[in-house]
Amino acid sequence: MALLVQKYGGTSVADAARIRHVAERIVACREAGNQVAVVVSAMGDTTDELIALAHSIAANPDPRELDLLLSTGELVSCTLVAMALRELGADAVSMNAAQAGIRTDTAHGRASIVALDPKRVRRELDRGRIVIIAGFQGTTADEDVTTLGRGGSDTTAVALAAALGAERCEVYTDVSGIYTADPHVVPEARQLFEIGYEEMLELASYGAKMHPRAIELAAWYHVPVLVAGAAGDRPGTLIHDLEDPSGGEMASMGEMEARNRVSGVTYERGVARITVRAVPDRPGIVAAVFEPLSEANVSVDTIVQSASAERLTDVSFTVAKTDAGAALEISRRVAGEIGAADCVSDTDLGAVSIVGTGMQNAPGYASRMFRALADASINIEMITTSQIRITCIVAEAHLDDAVRVLHAAFELDKA
Ligand code: ASP
Ligand code: MG
Repeated sequence: MALLVQKYGGTSVADAARIRHVAERIVACREAGNQVAVVVSAMGDTTDELIALAHSIAANPDPRELDLLLSTGELVSCTLVAMALRELGADAVSMNAAQAGIRTDTAHGRASIVALDPKRVRRELDRGRIVIIAGFQGTTADEDVTTLGRGGSDTTAVALAAALGAERCEVYTDVSGIYTADPHVVPEARQLFEIGYEEMLELASYGAKMHPRAIELAAWYHVPVLVAGAAGDRPGTLIHDLEDPSGGEMASMGEMEARNRVSGVTYERGVARITVRAVPDRPGIVAAVFEPLSEANVSVDTIVQSASAERLTDVSFTVAKTDAGAALEISRRVAGEIGAADCVSDTDLGAVSIVGTGMQNAPGYASRMFRALADASINIEMITTSQIRITCIVAEAHLDDAVRVLHAAFELDKA
């Protein structure tokens, strides 16, 4: 008998009919001989509605009160799913985060799970019950309720799967899996049947669907995660340890060389670039620029420092467009202090990336990427790479084209 953790997103439990459908799916999984623990998100847009409601009462809602308010969304859905299961004759019990043993730090609105003791969950499972757990929340050592950040139910599900030693965590959502690119931008995008954790992390942090923290946890604890459509008629994508991309069979050297090392193309809109020009090139200058930004909680992405000419260098970096105003103000002040010439910003940029674990040991991917963009007359503003990702910053107006061009250039439309 396998122990599975299933997670259903907000769309899957948006109304009574869909809750009944989810209950039927859970019962089918149980009847197939599995023990099932289920994590649910709040119904439909409940979380957004609760946030709007709070802001209609208070300009800056108290973080503790806001978290307790938001936690009610998942309490509604988990109790309703338990009731629907009982209607089907299944023995089910719902639990809040405290009952499920989910302990977090005190960072309201973006809490991290610091411990998970699922003894009550396990006891109920061992009694043959289906357990439904409210996602997205935890409790602190002082018994305050916290939330894990938007989309945090994924994290609840993976953490629970890790703590229970579940065979797999199944995340059911409104898309059928992970794609080679956003299908809204690239109609030819294909669904991937499997992907490694690192690649998924790069895809997730660039706009694809899952909560990055959930992937980090899954990678750390080696929890296989199946992402699939809630309709359940398609196979989904398995995120797991993907050491041997040949699938375990002995591949010839030729096959290995020929296989496509790019798994997907991702993008991010709303990128801004700040450039501090003609900075005196001496030790400590770059630190002087970035320390005040980090103190102001502005997260900086790509950083480029030009080669210095006549002991002057340009420092450019990107931030989210929403942080551009604050970043420019801080940089202008610092520029004055360190004797830089001036500071300019460009707010209409985007990032496009190719992602794939095989790229790290193979030359030529960067040049193919640059050639493809050049052939489409798309100018590259900045470039960064990681072991498994190459990112180009381009004009936001060309971003969709860039995604499509790269998807075609790396033949991601072909199986
Ligand atoms: N309900 C929360 C949100 O909308 C958590 C989740 O859906 O995972 O962000
Ligand atoms: Mg939601």
